[in-house]
Formats: sequence, structure tokens, C-alpha cells
Amino acid sequence: NLSNRLQQVVKTLRGHARLTEENITDAMREVRMALLEADVALPVVKDFVSQVKERAVGREVLQSLSPGQAVIQVVHEELTRLMGEQNVGLNLATNPPAIVLMAGLQGSGKTTTSAKLARLLKADKKKVLLASADVYRPAAIEQLKTLAKSLEVDCFDSNATQKPADIAAQALDFAKRHFYDVLIFDTAGRLGIDEAMMAEIKQLHEILSPIETLFVVDAMQGQDAVNTARAFGETLPLTGVVLTKLDGDARGGAALSVRHVTGKPIKYIGVSEKVDGIELFHPERMASRVLGMGDVLSLIEQAQKNVDLEEAKKLADKVKSGKNFDLDDFKAQMLQMRKMGGMGALMDKMPAQLAGMAGQVNSEAGDKALRRIEGIINSMTPLERRKPDIIKATRKRRIAAGAGVQVQEVNRLLNQFGEVQKMMKMFSKGGMSKIMRTMQG
Ligand code: GDP
Ligand code: MG
Repeated sequence: NLSNRLQQVVKTLRGHARLTEENITDAMREVRMALLEADVALPVVKDFVSQVKERAVGREVLQSLSPGQAVIQVVHEELTRLMGEQNVGLNLATNPPAIVLMAGLQGSGKTTTSAKLARLLKADKKKVLLASADVYRPAAIEQLKTLAKSLEVDCFDSNATQKPADIAAQALDFAKRHFYDVLIFDTAGRLGIDEAMMAEIKQLHEILSPIETLFVVDAMQGQDAVNTARAFGETLPLTGVVLTKLDGDARGGAALSVRHVTGKPIKYIGVSEKVDGIELFHPERMASRVLGMGDVLSLIEQAQKNVDLEEAKKLADKVKSGKNFDLDDFKAQMLQMRKMGGMGALMDKMPAQLAGMAGQVNSEAGDKALRRIEGIINSMTPLERRKPDIIKATRKRRIAAGAGVQVQEVNRLLNQFGEVQKMMKMFSKGGMSKIMRTMQG
């Protein structure tokens, strides 16, 4: 099985410091198998593997990782990147009603997903109208009406004797006249791709001019998902994908294939047949699922944490040894704190001011602030970083100009640094080792 095979790779690669073309070939063969087993389409696998190889060659291997694990790490990163944007929900930024058009094969989950989305929007205080143009399948419109009723969401009163185009025009008019925020328009799908269906959905798209055109695809479709995605992607200007039935044992390879073929973000995943069975798409989780290498991945995560711990320990040792805490250390400390932002226990043990800074650098605004601070420190000469006391007016102006900031910002940074430096001096030996114990525990 896969995990055994990987173990083998890890063994054969032990003892290399850098990834080379040769030492990743075996690992990539296993990755290829893993992707195919996860139902990623063959051409997608080929592209992906060659791309990852290119990125992996020359990479340094973390001390605590074997090269085999390092390859998996690159694969996981790349897979996450290719899966695309994180947490992109529906885009409703338009004059209401914002229209969401559902497209996909029969049985892919369009009707169910329409109801799930209506439920999410309702919870978000939106006035939602559901409408169905599935005039072909007996009881399809009824299915949506029943779901709408259970959710206490309005459903446009269409019926199977109408033409889909007429339903679209009437539902749109109704939604406008009654000031709905969102109209979710459910459509018919066929069992396979056929011209009549494509022509119809294209026409509906023209009538409705939706802001979201979602391609709904069943994750269990596996390899076939590629062809379906291609056909829909060529016919309609899709804006996103919903991948359903991930509660089954599908490994999720369809996510990569569909993303690759359509180039559109996967916005949601379906995780049960119930109306609350919907989640925002998380590329990283999906990458782990596709690779199916839970153990290896958690090992890698652990190894990365250890590296952070080592860095932190170096800093702590520096403080303990009484060596002067300078601006380079300050920078390292801030980066370190950001990485360890999640470690609440550590924060509790920190002096309030340091913890406050760490919390600050952990937010998005903090990210920006941190980059500015880095920019300022980078504009200093090595001597200035070691002996900030020499930074007087002329140097401040030069540094500010170099970093593209105001002199006041340089001042603020120097003041902050002064505060932290004071605290670092006060840090007793006992205090620091306590922190280290907390981190390791
Ligand atoms: P449509 O033909 O595209 O409208 O598909 P439906 O919404 O009618 O769904 C087809 C079948 O798939 C139904 O039995 C649904 O209950 C089921 N289904 C849809 N989404 C999911 C999901 O995310 N998980 C599971 N387990 N079943 C789903
Ligand atoms: Mg349906």
C-alpha cells in the first residue's frame, strides 16, 4: 500500500541535504500513484508532477525531515496552491437581486446545493428566492419547493408545463418586483453532456445574467469529472465550482482536475445530503485528503514546529547568555512570534507587552506592520542594527527614505525596540526556561 511505499522512499533517500533530480524521482513516482488512486485525471497528474519536480529540485531539506518527506511537503504545498483560493464564498456584489445560476449533470447535487446555499444566505439575513427550471424530471420542481418550505425560504411557483426560458424571465421579474437580495436558479441536467442541455443553459444564462454561475460536480465522478467540467467550462462563463458528495469515500482528486480544467475556484463542498451539509472549500485540507498521507503530513508539520522551537531556543540562549539584544534579534523575534501566534499558552507566560506585540503581528494588519518594520530594519547598516544608540537625526532620515516611511515611524520602531530591550534584560533565567518548557510541553 501507499504508506509502505512511501516508507521505502523515505529510507532510500535518507542522508541527502538537498533535493536533486535523481533523489526525487522515486518519491514522485509514489506521488503519481497517490494522485491517480485519488482519481485525479491522468493529464492533470502529468502536468502537476512535472511542475512539482521543477520546484522541488534544489530545495533544502529541513534537518528533521528526510528528503522523501521533503518531497511530500513540496507536493502538499503545490497541491494546496493549485487548488486555489481559500474560502471564497458567493460573490453577491451587484445590484439586487444577485443571481446564482446552478449548472451540472443530473444527480450532481444542484437542487440540494441550491437549498443549502439558500439556507446559508438566509442565516446571513438575505431575502432569498429559489426557482427551478427543471421541467423534464418528474417531481424535480416539487423537490425544490419541498426543500424551500422546510427552510422557510420562498420558492418561485413554476411548473413542468412551462418553458425553462419563460420560467427564468418570470422568476427574474418576480425577484425584482419583490426586492429579493438573491435569486438562486436551479436547472435541469442530463445524464451525460448533450447539445440540447448546453444550448438551454446557455440561453438561461443570457436571460438571467447571473453574477455567479456555479458548476456543481459530484466528487464520486472521479476521472469523468474532467470531461464534464471541460464541456461546461467551454459553454458557460463559470464563476465557481461546488464539489458535492465528499462525505463518501471519494479521495477528492476531482477537485484538482476540475480546478485545473476550469481555472475557477472551488467555492463550496457538499458533505452530506442534508441541508446543512455544505462547507467552504479549504485547499489545504483537500490537498491532504487527495494525498491520503495523513501520517506523513503530520510528521512534516511536527518537524516544522521543531525548527521554530530551535530558532526560539537560540534567541532564548542569547538572552540568557547576556549578549546584547539588538535589532536583528528584534526582527527575528517578531517573525518568530508571528509563527507561534497560535500558542496561547506561551503568550500567557510572556510579559504583557511582548505578548501584545505578538498578537498584533498575528493579524492581517499586523502582517503589514511587520513588513514595514522589517523594511525599516533592512534599511539600517549592520552597525546601526547592533548599536541603535548611534541612530540620530541624519541616520533616521536616511533610513526612513530607504524604507519609504516617515521619520516618525523610525522613531516609533526605535522606541518599541527600546522597551523590548529593557524587558529582555529583566527577563530572569528562570522566566525564560519556564517559557521554553511551556513551548515544548
Ligand atoms: P441534481 O439532479 O443535480 O439536482 O441533484 P440532487 O440535488 O437532486 O442530488 C442528487 C442526489 O445526491 C440526491 O439523492 C441528494 O440527496 C444527493 N446529494 C447531493 N449532494 C450531496 C452531498 O453533498 N452528499 C451526499 N451524501 N449526497 C448528496
Ligand atoms: Mg435537480
